[in-house]
Amino acid sequence: MPIRYIDQIKDLKDKKVFIRVDFNVPQDDKGNITEDTRIAGAVPTIKYVIEQGAKVILASHLGRPKGEKKAKYTMAPASRRLGELLGKKIKQAPDCFGPEVDKLIAGMKGGEIVMLENVRFYPGEEKNDAAFAEQLANGCEIYVNDAFAVSHRAHASVEAITKIIPVIAAGFLMRNEMTFFDKAMTNPVRPLVAILGGAKVSGKLEVLEKLVNKVDKIVIGGGMAFTFLKAMGYSVGKSLVEDDLIVTAKKVMDKAQKRGVTFYLPVDCVVANAFEATATNFITTVQEIPEGWMALDIGPASATLFAETLRDAKTVIWNGPMGVFEMDAFARGTFSLAEAVGNCYATTIIGGGDTDSAVRKAGVDGKVSYISTGGGAFLELLEGKSLPGVKALEIKAKK
Ligand code: AMP
Repeated sequence: MPIRYIDQIKDLKDKKVFIRVDFNVPQDDKGNITEDTRIAGAVPTIKYVIEQGAKVILASHLGRPKGEKKAKYTMAPASRRLGELLGKKIKQAPDCFGPEVDKLIAGMKGGEIVMLENVRFYPGEEKNDAAFAEQLANGCEIYVNDAFAVSHRAHASVEAITKIIPVIAAGFLMRNEMTFFDKAMTNPVRPLVAILGGAKVSGKLEVLEKLVNKVDKIVIGGGMAFTFLKAMGYSVGKSLVEDDLIVTAKKVMDKAQKRGVTFYLPVDCVVANAFEATATNFITTVQEIPEGWMALDIGPASATLFAETLRDAKTVIWNGPMGVFEMDAFARGTFSLAEAVGNCYATTIIGGGDTDSAVRKAGVDGKVSYISTGGGAFLELLEGKSLPGVKALEIKAKK
């Protein structure tokens, strides 16, 4: 179903436009923002709307304040960073609604921006509460969702509010996310290669089952590879294995074989004697993982093999690290794959979360086609689910 985008809405001048952004960015102990991709991602939409002369009311969540006002989770640092990126002063509201917020909004001129406080300061946000949505909407005339990363949640500022504000649209970040996703999954140029990594099979089972029906090659690394290797009869020592999913892992591999999907697992790995950055470690083949040792990264032969699978790829989609990349000793596999993805002649799409930070740490973020801002939302799209935040926009567009 079609979605209307903000540049399809005419005459924004002096209109009150509510934009749901996702400024849930990482901060250090002192509250300094350590990574601002999500804020930067929403800038084109905000810029466009203020250039049209509208009054912009921004809303976001940050962290998990669990329905209570906690100073630690204020939106103030995020609004300051947005102000720096836009070269414009952002007025930080003291709350999400109430007399002081009303006063701030009533005093706005076209082209100005007010940032509401953290919407998760109220329990109504996560409960998708209509009354809270009404308080947030506060007479706004146009609603824009540019918060892809939270669009898999039916929350008040994402879902309920779309039933209150009369005109609904998506922002440009959302458009990018949907466009690249479509490019990869709806109309992919083939060969289409999916690379999956991360800790467990269980977290990505639905994704795997979906992908095996769609892609030409599947590459599996990270902790999840060891359930598959055990399913093939290898002894994997103390590596991460979900025994209850061994049968499922076999079924996935059988399905891949029946469909002619080539299925790649690591051929070697870096094993350690403890799950610690300073643990003793060495490289071995997957056939020779010693009893009592755990594999925490793919080895160099696997890195070469996985890079080789990308040689003829036209579309690549990657979610999940190849090893415990947070520890230097087990980061090489992930970084070397990031390098290979960055260098391949294909549309390359990186699922958010850990893969996003791995690609940035490896310094190849400028070489991939698209890095999604959403971890959970991206995975749900891969699972074939429709996102409540997107669905809400589709329904309105139909009217
Ligand atoms: P996920 O959220 O499922 O994508 O998992 C990401 C996490 O998987 C990262 O924190 C990695 O440290 C972890 N991980 C990757 N490879 C392994 C492995 N071989 N053993 C244990 N954990 C792993």
